[in-house]
Amino acid sequence: MIEHPCIKDGWFREVSDKYFPGQAFTLRVEKVLYHEKTEFQDVLVFKSTDYGNVLVLDGIIQVSERDEFAYQEMISHIPLYAHKSPKKILVIGGGDGGVLREVVKHSCVTDATLVEIDPTVIELSKKYLPNMACSFNNPKVNVKLCDGFKFLRDVAASGAKYDVIITDSSDPEGPAEAFFQKEYFELLYKALNDDGIVIAQASENVWLNLNYLKTLLETARSVFPVSEYCYTMLPTYTSGQLGLIACCKNPNTNIVQPSRVPTESEQANMRYYNNKIHSAAFVLPTWARKSLNP
Ligand code: SAM
Repeated sequence: MIEHPCIKDGWFREVSDKYFPGQAFTLRVEKVLYHEKTEFQDVLVFKSTDYGNVLVLDGIIQVSERDEFAYQEMISHIPLYAHKSPKKILVIGGGDGGVLREVVKHSCVTDATLVEIDPTVIELSKKYLPNMACSFNNPKVNVKLCDGFKFLRDVAASGAKYDVIITDSSDPEGPAEAFFQKEYFELLYKALNDDGIVIAQASENVWLNLNYLKTLLETARSVFPVSEYCYTMLPTYTSGQLGLIACCKNPNTNIVQPSRVPTESEQANMRYYNNKIHSAAFVLPTWARKSLNP
């Protein structure tokens, strides 16, 4: 059996000393499929007894086969259905391919570029997460293997623009650190068309770290005229939910209200997203609303 410091007595244990040291999440391991320290991060893939194959980066669960759709659909379809006509899409991170799978479901999308720093994640996902990594060969898709922050800096300098940018990154401790800072939001703003929308995984939720989210949202609001917190629910992210920050360049864009609804055939291909949950995802419990939307 391949050994890993997060696996003991047949259980994988996710512990975050930095953000919430008194809480941990565990999954029973059937088999460890792969472990490597790449140039960028510690990469683990294991088969769990109840959640299918699970991808872990630097000790933090990124996706499980059982519940990944709740994340991929919401981070993709909230900005894509809020936008009237999204054509050019940029995905930063996202090497498991799940967001790409959702993006190319939109027939109006003509061009989807994915920028992933670690080629190992893409290769492992093709092998162990085939239902996620199923769109890399789609003719609309273009993959760049480089640092997403540097890529965006070049895009902003070149004047190229996107309709929707999705930051599907790992958490701030590691190669994704720059995605949670003001300079990144400024680059996102520059790289968007006038009606452009961005969304980023916030790495936290209101139960875990409300102050962190408040600061992140304030950073986004110092750059974008519209920035809102919303969330998706899935068991394998700590506390069963993950926050997303959605920002619009046009002050008149209503991110809470989809401007398009899925066609019947698009909806038949989705398991979590619908136009009601799009709006509901922005509704916060009172104590969190008072802090994030005072
Ligand atoms: N759904 C996950 C979550 O929030 O837990 C995130 C998906 S995971 C596939 C995130 C990806 O971002 C990883 O493959 C990682 O290699 C990539 N990544 C991290 N830092 C990056 C950077 N600076 N540039 C591009 N990709 C990066």
